[in-house]
Amino acid sequence: MTKSADTHCPYCALQCAMTLTSPAGLTPASEPGSVPVPAESAALAAADATLKAPLLEVSGRDFPTNRGGLCRKGWTSATLLNHPGRVTEPLLKGADGVHRPIGWDQALALVTTAVKDTQARYGKDAVGVFGGGGLTNEKAYMLGKFARLALGTSRIDYNGRFCMSSAAAAGMRAFGLDRGLPFPLTDLDSASTIMMLGSNVAETMPPFVQHLQGARDAGGLIVVDPRRSATAKFTADGGGLHLQPMPGTDLTLLLGLSHVIIHEGLADEDFIAARTTGYEAVVRSVNSFWPERVQSLTGVPAELIRETARRLADGASKGGSYILTGRGVEQHVDGTDTATAAINLSLLLGLPGSRRSGYGTLTGQGNGQGGREHGQKADQLPGYRKITDPAARAHMAGVWGVPEETIPGPGLPAVQLLKSLGQPDGVRCLFVHASNIAVASPDANAVIAGLRSLDFLVVCDFFMSETAAEADLILPVLQWAEEEGTLTNLEGRVLRRRRALQPPAGARSELWIMARLAQALEAPSTYSEDPETVFEELRLASAGGHADYSGIDYAMLDRGEAAYWPYPVGSTGTPRLFLDAFAHAGGKAVMTPVTPRRRRTPAANPDPAAKTMTLITGRLLEHYQSGAQTRRVSELLASQPEAKMQIHPAAAAAIGITEGAFVSVANERGEVVCRAELSTAIRPETVFLPFHFPELESANRLTEAATDPISGMPEFKFNKVWVRAVATG
Ligand code: SF4
Repeated sequence: MTKSADTHCPYCALQCAMTLTSPAGLTPASEPGSVPVPAESAALAAADATLKAPLLEVSGRDFPTNRGGLCRKGWTSATLLNHPGRVTEPLLKGADGVHRPIGWDQALALVTTAVKDTQARYGKDAVGVFGGGGLTNEKAYMLGKFARLALGTSRIDYNGRFCMSSAAAAGMRAFGLDRGLPFPLTDLDSASTIMMLGSNVAETMPPFVQHLQGARDAGGLIVVDPRRSATAKFTADGGGLHLQPMPGTDLTLLLGLSHVIIHEGLADEDFIAARTTGYEAVVRSVNSFWPERVQSLTGVPAELIRETARRLADGASKGGSYILTGRGVEQHVDGTDTATAAINLSLLLGLPGSRRSGYGTLTGQGNGQGGREHGQKADQLPGYRKITDPAARAHMAGVWGVPEETIPGPGLPAVQLLKSLGQPDGVRCLFVHASNIAVASPDANAVIAGLRSLDFLVVCDFFMSETAAEADLILPVLQWAEEEGTLTNLEGRVLRRRRALQPPAGARSELWIMARLAQALEAPSTYSEDPETVFEELRLASAGGHADYSGIDYAMLDRGEAAYWPYPVGSTGTPRLFLDAFAHAGGKAVMTPVTPRRRRTPAANPDPAAKTMTLITGRLLEHYQSGAQTRRVSELLASQPEAKMQIHPAAAAAIGITEGAFVSVANERGEVVCRAELSTAIRPETVFLPFHFPELESANRLTEAATDPISGMPEFKFNKVWVRAVATG
């Protein structure tokens, strides 16, 4: 009997709707008791993947965000469910460094002992938890509760710190609330003008491009990117504008755009007077950023800056204008200020809080939105509440049935948590969930050294990721098509994930694992392993918070009802935020003046044969995040099998680099060796590396773990590197 399930893609925040069909009905994903063979390399793992046909067929399903479309990652997503390299039993690392299967009882006993021993010797905070933006809402919620109550540690944070933290902080600062898109994605369809900064949706989430078509047809697309990315090319070919600033100058460019809006009388003065505060300070802050000066600082021609500002203002007076930011402008040590500058520009134009214009940030990870709402952030309790807020603590103490003082205070943001690994007052025992931090973290060499210095590392994963390979104990967990739950997409819309397949006999849900460990640790409160029961608790926990889910339940999601938070009991949800008021007391948006800061001086280039250049990192069409999953899909790996450093032909010629030749890209933190790809699409002083690949091709060996003082965002998009040809033969 054919079995099908309507669900959503396991990868990015667009959460494209898909139907999974299992011609054979419910089928075990693999033989119980089979022992996985850790892949020697990504290529070997991909070769393994060709051994079995996927158990499920994937088809795109009509839904407002994807309208039946999927990208190649989505089309091939079922390949991994019965991948031969999958971890299907707990694996314990022996003294010889080899992982061998053990039973669940022994595995849980080992974890319990490690936690108790570590905390007896070093204190509660010596145990840490690192979560992920791919966890369902239920798991993200339970992970925060498990860390704070069962482990009693303050040290929990997650990989969203590397993803959305700058934009989230800027949104809270300006609007009093952070929801990636405060409007349905389909609102973009009728816009006259859309400006995207640091976002390459044509490669990262291709079905999104449908929503740009109307503005493109009107010549109203604008892209800001140091590379002529696929999105920039799509824009320019449609008569739109591509601004190609030097890396690290986005904030300056935004100040220049605001300068033009103010000085050419294009600001929406009625909106500013009625709905914002801080205008005068912003005017003063942009006065010194006139277009010709901004041209000299950013490399973007002054006339192009003026033309962009005029098109944004013109669009706002016609079909509507939108400003959208992505990781390219947010993943900086001044990421919060840069996103703030983009919001200030949108407020000058009167875009937010309108039915036909707006500002938004494009969330990246599958549950990047929900993942930052339910308490796995170091400074946060469920419902997007501050952990230092007495009222929030009292509320959660009531929901959890514990004394308020037993809930720990704020912990360490992700970079600081990782820097503390193995340190005297740092984390000695670490739990990792849904993250491949050995590849995805800044200064990855230092992170790997930190992982190796731990007393005990437990990693929950379904593959032998580069982080799992470092673990003392690997706990095998379910994949997306084997579990029930909810995720919240980039619009703040809560969606149902549905099971289409029985998991392998040896794999367990993280909810099951946390429930068993909480019991063994004699933790206070309750820890259900049933997703719907956890969601019911999450409803109570979130009630009254910013991200209020209290009016949402599984039944309404199963009926296909649209559920945008905040969705208090008795309401119909909130597809569009801020129509009447912003979330700050008084209802006004806050404009905060921001200016560029001087960055740390990088180490001097010690290699006379190498040229100092600026490295930017990003994603490719075929791969997702650290590539732990997509590098195991043979169709994807065959198309993009390795990292290549993109470099302008003129820069390449100056240091003797030819197409396809091996290059060394190095700095004081490490070295990458990979092939060169010559392209006029990139600025001459800049090189690009994708960050999906491990070991010698790992771009994050070069990125700096310096952080934005407000959000904790690391510097991913502006790192000095020394580039040279690698001698062959
Ligand atoms: Fe999946 Fe994102 Fe591709 Fe859609 S765009 S199919 S959600 S990876």
